[in-house]
Amino acid sequence: MDDTSTLLDPEADAGHAAEPARDERPDLRGLPLELLGRLLAELGERPFRARQLYRWLHQKGAASLDEMTDLGRDLRAALATRARLTTLERASEQRSEDGTIKWAWRTADGKLVESVYLPEPERKTLCVSTQVGCAVGCAFCLTATMGLSRNLTAAEIVEQVHRANRRIVELGEGTGPRPLTNLVFMGMGEPLANYKNLKLALELLLSEDGPNFSHRHVTVSTSGLVPLIAKFGAETPVKLAVSLNATTDAQRDALMPINKRYPIAALLDACRAFPMRNGRRITFEYVLLGGVNDTLEDARRLVGLLRGIPAKVNLIPYNENPGLGFAAPAPEAVQAFFDALVAKNVTAVVRKSRGRDISAACGQLAREGGPGRPIRAGGPKRPAPPAPPLAPVQPSSAGPTLAGTRSDR
Ligand code: SAH
Ligand code: SF4
Repeated sequence: MDDTSTLLDPEADAGHAAEPARDERPDLRGLPLELLGRLLAELGERPFRARQLYRWLHQKGAASLDEMTDLGRDLRAALATRARLTTLERASEQRSEDGTIKWAWRTADGKLVESVYLPEPERKTLCVSTQVGCAVGCAFCLTATMGLSRNLTAAEIVEQVHRANRRIVELGEGTGPRPLTNLVFMGMGEPLANYKNLKLALELLLSEDGPNFSHRHVTVSTSGLVPLIAKFGAETPVKLAVSLNATTDAQRDALMPINKRYPIAALLDACRAFPMRNGRRITFEYVLLGGVNDTLEDARRLVGLLRGIPAKVNLIPYNENPGLGFAAPAPEAVQAFFDALVAKNVTAVVRKSRGRDISAACGQLAREGGPGRPIRAGGPKRPAPPAPPLAPVQPSSAGPTLAGTRSDR
């Protein structure tokens, strides 16, 4: 078994060092409506109280029991003896010149996790974290340099959304109670490696008495935990994104060690079997690394790999992380790669980089190692090519084929 085998074991997703320091009381924000009902029944309360409490927790994003003024003082005191309430403290806020905001949240046990807000005219998206760090160890990713500290609880996952909603309203960027329209699980961590908590968090976030997000507006990205892709497809209605990032096993082995366990063919088989409800497609993320996986040959192989899969390709020009030894692709290489996909009728967009000035772009989220201070031993095997200029892809100058350039993650 390799190093990642236990950390990524589907059955061990909530085990090992995976949970925060224990307060034995259950966390109110991590209880489904039914369990809240049971707790309230034990306290001698009438059934309708459960929905009332649930709405405070998940619709209004209450930060404390004190806010719940229509629940009697005695009930709130009784609840506090039987349960706790997770809130995330805002540790920092960084605003990019392009409107992106990155927040670091402090958990009750002092860990820092990040969420990124991506405002656009037609939608407001939050990029959500699911773990403190990540065990997958992709060679190009800054989060990987942290290793895995622990899984986030379901409450901590949904809390990022509540705290962001409230802050967006406070900043006058949207109206409450839920200015966010879209969620992407593309922050720190491998969501499917924290499957149990991810699934509960999705249930809470999609619930009618909660934030009521549409499953069409929620996307979970995975590096390719094959056995969990089928389970995820069967048990949740939300959209799937797969970080493919390479077109041969040799290449993907070097970039994403998970490929040694679940190679490309197995990953794509899982994608073919994924339930494609209502014309749904899988998004394939493809990080373009200058001189590594950005050639026309790669583009042609990608077309071949995706044949027969309802797919959309999200091309992500690499956001450079000092010290990891990879470079952004040349803008012409991005354009040529994109054109080669479109020429073969593959739907593709080039993901516009957002928040790069505040290290909030894809793969730039990390705390404990910190940018430029990787703590994971070893780097990429191949020498880095010279860095091309970091010119963002401009829809206007790139012709009609790039009209789909978007910042969605
Ligand atoms: N762990 C999950 C989700 C978070 S990473 C996953 O890997 O899918 C979100 C996306 O960012 C992934 O597609 C990943 O390949 C990409 N990414 C990581 N580092 C990046 C970087 N420095 N520049 C651009 N994209 C990056
Ligand atoms: Fe983890 Fe995703 Fe980064 Fe890979 S790209 S190390 S899976 S966060």
